[in-house]
Amino acid sequence: MAAVTSVVEQYLARIESGCVPLHEGAVADYIPELASVDPDRFALSLVVHDGHIYSAGDTTTEFTIQSISKALTYALVLAEYGVQLVDSHIGVEPSGEAFNEVSVDTSSRHPRNPMINAGALTAAALLIRPETLPDRPTSREEWAPHLDAAFARILDFYSGCAGRRLSMDDAVYRSEMATGSRNRAIAYMLESFGVFPSHPQAAVDLYVRQCSIRVTTDDLAVIGSTFANGGVNPRTGRRMIEGDVVRRVLSVMTTCGMYDGAGDWVTTVGLPAKSGVGGGILAVLPGQLGIGVFSPRLDQHGNSVRGVRACRLLSDDLGLHMFTVARESRVTIRSVFDGREWEPSTRDRTAREAGFLRAHRDRIRVLQLQGDLTFSGVESVVRRVESLGDRADVVVFDMSRVGTVDEVSRRLLIGLMRLRAGDGTGWVVIDPDAALDPPDRHGTAAAPAPRDDRLDARVRIATSVPEATAAAEDLLLATAQL
Ligand code: GLU
Repeated sequence: MAAVTSVVEQYLARIESGCVPLHEGAVADYIPELASVDPDRFALSLVVHDGHIYSAGDTTTEFTIQSISKALTYALVLAEYGVQLVDSHIGVEPSGEAFNEVSVDTSSRHPRNPMINAGALTAAALLIRPETLPDRPTSREEWAPHLDAAFARILDFYSGCAGRRLSMDDAVYRSEMATGSRNRAIAYMLESFGVFPSHPQAAVDLYVRQCSIRVTTDDLAVIGSTFANGGVNPRTGRRMIEGDVVRRVLSVMTTCGMYDGAGDWVTTVGLPAKSGVGGGILAVLPGQLGIGVFSPRLDQHGNSVRGVRACRLLSDDLGLHMFTVARESRVTIRSVFDGREWEPSTRDRTAREAGFLRAHRDRIRVLQLQGDLTFSGVESVVRRVESLGDRADVVVFDMSRVGTVDEVSRRLLIGLMRLRAGDGTGWVVIDPDAALDPPDRHGTAAAPAPRDDRLDARVRIATSVPEATAAAEDLLLATAQL
């Protein structure tokens, strides 16, 4: 049955093969330890609304989260201090500048947003609970315990969002601490304006630790799905973030998450996202999906080249742009029942056939689908069919309440039917409006393409329930040795 889930995984594998030939870009080397990673690695994970993970590539490879941490720590300070206090330290305006620009709003002298280093360092400084520090701490010993406590909160929070215990990469941490003059400069500059809420060195240390937390693409996708799910990790069921904080963080990710490439990103990919110089990208389709991608070579903005391509393909191919307007219902499956709930067909049957059908009608399973079909809904249909195991010989899709079917949904459903037809399952599709027809390539709804060309003999198309009943019975009888 694993083969069935692979209908979705086949898509991810296709996306992987569309990305792997890309060799442009360069691995970040300003943190020396990052330069030692294998530049050819690639991994992609997708977590759907109920926490199910699909992945492709080197999904066991760990890499450092780097700037993706900015979104998480921002969520944490918002939760701890509330919007008002945080807003009085960090703005929410896109800067259009590079991530490590020594940049502040000229009138307020506050960092423009939490996704550039100035804002992320301020968020880290806030977490150290400045009010507990001595007036002007001078030595590391003085602030070390506060720093450790703040990092413990960060690690707990990130781990809760990822649904597993995460840890820090000590070598990357030390490497950045040894070379991070620019971040020190930003923190000291903010301090010189009188707007920095903690000791600059403590904030830099905490920020570099959070950037050095190791994740896999599965982790990123689970974190993304926690955001997509309104703050509840769908794998653990634990609420990690309040809904209003999720909304705030996703908004800032949308406008500021992809460095100075944010505008292009929003128009072409259309998902709130955050990338990091470690090669990771986390993206979120609110209400539906979390995505994690990893590949170390970066473009001129600092975003993973293959990561951006993968997100673009996912967005195009799976129809994920957040502003795609569909009458989608989360509940694509209206009901599921077996063939005993249908009146037997009026078709002539021999006594043996009628007896066989009476005894085995429960081996016909009917799934009534509804709404506009898009990736998320159809993905759950695919898994529902998978969960039937071998309890059904004939599966009926009743599409009479379906509006439009996007390209990926059509291909997933047809792919699923072909695959299972090959294993002996019979299929009947009640499709009065020819919703499964691809109008652009094979005719239009008014002049449908000849349907028998598309699918093999185990797949029948019907336009009404009585027609479908007769077809399902025929297919069921074909499984019998009468
Ligand atoms: N630790 C890195 C820095 O601050 C993170 C940069 C990034 O991922 O954009 O330089």
